[in-house]
Amino acid sequence: MTKRGGIYIHVPFCQSRCVYCDFYSTTYGVEWKRSYLDALKREMQLRRGEIDTSRVPSLYIGGGTPSQLPAPMLQELFKALLDNFTLAPDAEVTIEANPDDVTPAWIEALGQTPVNRISMGVQTFSDALLRLLNRRHTSQQALEAVRLCREAGYTNISLDLIYGLPGQSLQDWMGDVRRILSLEVPHLSAYALSYEEGTVLDRMLQEGKVSEAPDELSWQMYEYLMDETAAAGMEHYEISNFARPGMYSKHNSSYWDGSPYLGLGPGAHSYDGGSVRRSNDTSLKDYVCSTADVPHQKEVLTPEEQYDELVMTRLRTASGLHLGLLTPEQKSYCMKMAEPHILRGDLLREGLVLRLSRKGIFISNSIISDLMR
Ligand code: SF4
Repeated sequence: MTKRGGIYIHVPFCQSRCVYCDFYSTTYGVEWKRSYLDALKREMQLRRGEIDTSRVPSLYIGGGTPSQLPAPMLQELFKALLDNFTLAPDAEVTIEANPDDVTPAWIEALGQTPVNRISMGVQTFSDALLRLLNRRHTSQQALEAVRLCREAGYTNISLDLIYGLPGQSLQDWMGDVRRILSLEVPHLSAYALSYEEGTVLDRMLQEGKVSEAPDELSWQMYEYLMDETAAAGMEHYEISNFARPGMYSKHNSSYWDGSPYLGLGPGAHSYDGGSVRRSNDTSLKDYVCSTADVPHQKEVLTPEEQYDELVMTRLRTASGLHLGLLTPEQKSYCMKMAEPHILRGDLLREGLVLRLSRKGIFISNSIISDLMR
């Protein structure tokens, strides 16, 4: 029997590239979008049997910049999806959008689709930093985009922020957090800036044009974020994610709870909910040329790798790692490695659940890697 799972669609187009980004996307023109859509439809038909097509719980259109698809193509994409898959009545259907793409015309086109959740990368309200990051939008456009979405009846909005930006002070960050919370959106994601190899930002760092935020400052920023979101009634349900009660991202939660998902599009990842992971190759050219299955890699996880994934994903969440998911041998290994962290108060053990303490969240990477094989 095929398993119930969500769908992720990767739209690999951006108008321009942000300096910090290492997601797969291209700046190719509209003729590539046409070929992409045709290939995507082929992939949907070919791979629809990998999940239960009759009641898809979540659909996430990400990228790249899905809001860069012309409105008729967006509608065509959804038509193809709905020809191949049936959404559950309460399905969460998210689209990522760049604030400057959110115009009255785009929102109107969105109204012809089942989208009920919009995720936008605000990143910061500092226009100077937005320029440094090569973001296309201004802080004013971000505010305007939220207003337009709301006016059109989209209340399920998620906004992204980045902290630890070059030259960003604690005061600057506090201003960003206060401003985003004043918008009272139900979901917020906040990420520490990372300097990924091969990005323009990493080159700028090597050339001494920017410098990394000191750890101490990043921690102060994160601590402020945790305090202010809690005071605003948001729940810190995953290391980088905060939501009002009942407004957790269903789709992203499925990545952390081991549910299967089907990823379509170049660079998209899929998981069968057991031991098989698949990643489509990050090449739009190969993707559009494929006639049978699109180019991809498949990986069958060993029991050790499955254990590592459990530790890595579950400990990121407020629900923590349930020891009942482990074999007796894994459980005893896990507890042996967890013991020093429990004694130091970085990890909490509550019955059969291990979770990061507030103190532990700051050093989550080292705790998680200690518990891994
Ligand atoms: S818009 Fe998003 S996907 Fe595109 S380059 Fe910027 S961060 Fe990356």
